[in-house]
Amino acid sequence: MNGIWTQFGGNLSFVCLAISLWAHFSIQFQRHSLLQQKIAFGIIAGGASIGSILLAVEFHPGIYVDLRFSPLALAGMFGGPVAAAFAVALAVAFRFAVGGAAMLDGIVTMAAAAGIGLIAHFCIRKRSPRFMDVALLTLALAGVIVASMTMLPTVSNANVLAGFGFPMTALNCLATLLCGFVLLKMQQWQLERSILVTAFSQSPDYLYVKDRNSRFITVNENMIRLYRFRTTAEMTGLSDFNLLSRPLAEELYHLEQQVMETGEPLIDCPEQIEGRSMLASKVPLRDKQGRVIGLAGVTRDVTERAALERELRESKNLLSHAMASMSDGIAMYDKKGFLIFCNEQYRSAFPLSGDARVVGAHISDILRRVAETEERVGIPEDLEEWIKAATASLHSNKDEEIQLHNGDWRSIRTRLAEDGAAMAVVSDITATKEAEIALRLSAEQLRNLAETDGLTGMANRRAFDEAFARETAGSARKNTPFSLLMIDIDRFKAYNDTYGHPAGDQCLRVISKCLRQSVSRPADIVARYGGEEFVVLLPATSAKGAMIVAEQFARRLAQENIPHSGSEFGRVTASIGISCATGATLRVNPNRLLTEADAALYDAKTQGRNRVLAHSPDERHGMKDVG
Ligand code: GH3
Ligand code: MG
Ligand code: MG
Repeated sequence: MNGIWTQFGGNLSFVCLAISLWAHFSIQFQRHSLLQQKIAFGIIAGGASIGSILLAVEFHPGIYVDLRFSPLALAGMFGGPVAAAFAVALAVAFRFAVGGAAMLDGIVTMAAAAGIGLIAHFCIRKRSPRFMDVALLTLALAGVIVASMTMLPTVSNANVLAGFGFPMTALNCLATLLCGFVLLKMQQWQLERSILVTAFSQSPDYLYVKDRNSRFITVNENMIRLYRFRTTAEMTGLSDFNLLSRPLAEELYHLEQQVMETGEPLIDCPEQIEGRSMLASKVPLRDKQGRVIGLAGVTRDVTERAALERELRESKNLLSHAMASMSDGIAMYDKKGFLIFCNEQYRSAFPLSGDARVVGAHISDILRRVAETEERVGIPEDLEEWIKAATASLHSNKDEEIQLHNGDWRSIRTRLAEDGAAMAVVSDITATKEAEIALRLSAEQLRNLAETDGLTGMANRRAFDEAFARETAGSARKNTPFSLLMIDIDRFKAYNDTYGHPAGDQCLRVISKCLRQSVSRPADIVARYGGEEFVVLLPATSAKGAMIVAEQFARRLAQENIPHSGSEFGRVTASIGISCATGATLRVNPNRLLTEADAALYDAKTQGRNRVLAHSPDERHGMKDVG
């Protein structure tokens, strides 16, 4: 009996040893493909199973009890179908070669053990296995072994269960638990290692570990690429002296030795390697006793960043140079209304509020200073309301022209940026504005000259023609009556002949004064029609109203009592023709007003002069002697 337990003990040791060896050497296999790793694991598990069969206890002739099932179940669970297939194939082939009475029962149970492992493998496929999974596999395997011993004919007939059934099942379970635990730990360790290795080798920075003499112990893939090697091994043992120029290598060597001697890490130290700008950090590595045994280095390639920073610096310089030398003032306000940038020209464009225009100031405070100093012309009474409105309008695109206290003009163009900031460009437009005002004034003067009669100062014929067209059209539209007076001085030729031309001119001035005094409405227009003829336009005035105006003029002229020896009346008189039209007539033919007035004037002359006569395009009015 003792011999049997020794055999079982040896069996258990062998299985555990095989699996432990696999755990140890599997790291070597990590260089190979996953399939190759699985095949290797299958072969090792199959070998462990065969070893167990070799060390089996022969229960009856041809019936062997051993721990062959445990490696097969573990191959299924940890290695999947490929490992299970290789393990089962090897173990089954061997069992077949051994032969014996229970060969078939043995093969069936072996396949069932691997199957149980595979089921476990597929159940936990989406996560890494845990100890509970190994425990469940162990229980399931126990079930498979017990079932085979009770159900398979040869082993059940031989009553294996009653004989070695329990110890054999227990030992298979123990082997599965122990070996499963080892494989579990191995897998976890490999996972952690592969995470670390990936993080190290795939890092976008240059990572390396150096020994006390600054020789590379390991480097990551970026380092291999930088120095154009193919594998880490090729760089192991090399130092900067093998890779860089001697002066640079010496400089780096001294730096690294200093780090290792002082134990002080070096952080973000600039380096120029292979024409690229790097930032290197080097940290001393210590053993468990705290002795420095080397250093770990991280070097970051900042070539692009350095180039970008240089570009940014240059464009900033260029921009501030442009800002300083431009003639316009420029200011930038953020979306809350705070001044975030302005040039000197912006400040000096506003001499009284310039000191308030500093970075960080709010637009409302700047405007308040403008109001306090009365720097700007036309600030409304309600100061707070104006500041509020002007602050709000900062954030809209607009062009405005403002006048300062000293008469200077500024143009302020505000444009919105995408982020809600507002940019204001201020230009001194005083000269342009003054030229514009002068131009407008002279244009106005010119127009006045062109439209004014030089002798009398009243509207001339040209202005009359324009006013006539405009006012008759207006009355036609509004459907209001419109009257026209046409005045001609009586015997004026004779006046000139008697008193001289200058006296005639003076007489015309007096007459124009009388005419102007005779009209009262702002819309009434008095014009010199030509020579000593005048016209009066009376919009919205009936014939009756026109008659009143004419009579008033005749009365004033009479009051002036200008002597005229050549006139039958002994003084200067005038004949007046009146015409009046309704809106309807004006719409059809406004010029009829003129011809009718002219006809009335002609009648007044022929009927003895010094009188008012009305003709109407609509109806005829009677004659009035105003003498
Ligand atoms: P009537 O009563 O028929 O109107 O006789 P009249 O002499 O006034 O005749 P008419 O209206 O044709 O006279 C025009 C005269 O007015 C001719 C010209 O000597 C004079 N006259 C026209 N323009 C001026 C002016 O600007 N100054 C002066 N002094 N006389 C002018
Ligand atoms: Mg005349
Ligand atoms: Mg006349």
